[in-house]
Amino acid sequence: MSSEAVEKDVRPRVAGKTKVVGIFGDPVEHSLSPSMHNRAFLELGLDYVYIPFHVRPKNLAAAVRGATALGLVGFNLTIPHKREVVALVDELSPEAELIGAVNTVVLSDGRLIGHNTDGQGFVRSLREEAGFDPAGRHVIVLGAGGAAQAVVVQLLLEGAATLTIVNRTAAKGERLADAVSRRFASPVTVAGYDSPELGPALEQADLIVNATPVGMAPRVEEMPPIPLDRLSPGCLVSDLVYTPMHTQLVRTARAKGCAALPGLGMLLFQGAQAFELWTGRAAPVDVMRQTLVERLVG
Ligand code: NAP
Repeated sequence: MSSEAVEKDVRPRVAGKTKVVGIFGDPVEHSLSPSMHNRAFLELGLDYVYIPFHVRPKNLAAAVRGATALGLVGFNLTIPHKREVVALVDELSPEAELIGAVNTVVLSDGRLIGHNTDGQGFVRSLREEAGFDPAGRHVIVLGAGGAAQAVVVQLLLEGAATLTIVNRTAAKGERLADAVSRRFASPVTVAGYDSPELGPALEQADLIVNATPVGMAPRVEEMPPIPLDRLSPGCLVSDLVYTPMHTQLVRTARAKGCAALPGLGMLLFQGAQAFELWTGRAAPVDVMRQTLVERLVG
């Protein structure tokens, strides 16, 4: 199906009582969220519409005030607003407070409640798509940026036994490890791609997460520089990259006999969680997934 045909499929019917949600980003044109959410609203017969708003950093505070003035039900935040919006909301969920970033805002009685559904979406994808429970497990996270931070915090909230952060820039990995070590009891250590501790950590790992853009289109032939041969066959390999849907890392891990989870699941379930916060209804994840797949392959 062409992307034009998909857009027609998800076009909502806007009327006087239609509730409005949306996404603030710069850029925002690439976002798959409008298609995913509008298709979900249609599926459940909910009178909502999801609109992309191109909000430049200097206009973020005005846009947030505007959302309140216009009576939006809520909104998502994407690059580069997830951190800056923290200072603009009235309340933070425990996850958003720990991560220090907000990707979903709910407006409730004139108050702005900031949530972070990225980490929760990631863990829901682990559970629902791979039957993997992080409690008591040994985890390696590659990267120390925004996505890594959400994933690391949520894995520790879920009771991961140990966590190793591997980052290209050592100081950034150390900063993330220090920040979470102050809040959680499980040991969090840092390793470099070439450090001797990485091999034993790989052998012990139950889950390894690529939270770097390595392997993302157009450089689809690239893979994080880790010796996959040292992973145990029971280790789950998760790649947050979703363009392409099946990265070189996912394909190589599967060829070596490991289970591997593409990044589409995190994208889907962070959206499902936001949908549920705004509507109070269970998200229709099958049609949301189908919409994402159509957009990514179309
Ligand atoms: P970010 O904040 O810019 O962080 C990027 C991280 O990747 C940094 O730790 C950076 O290391 C590392 N990195 C970048 N290029 C690298 C390279 N060539 N080799 C090794 N490490 C490298 O980005 P982000 O927002 O965390 O996003 C990371 C990836 O996750 C992106 O591909 C994004 O599309 C994906 N993502 C997916 C979802 C989803 O729903 N599936 C959600 C969010 C993000 P340094 O510290 O050394 O710079």
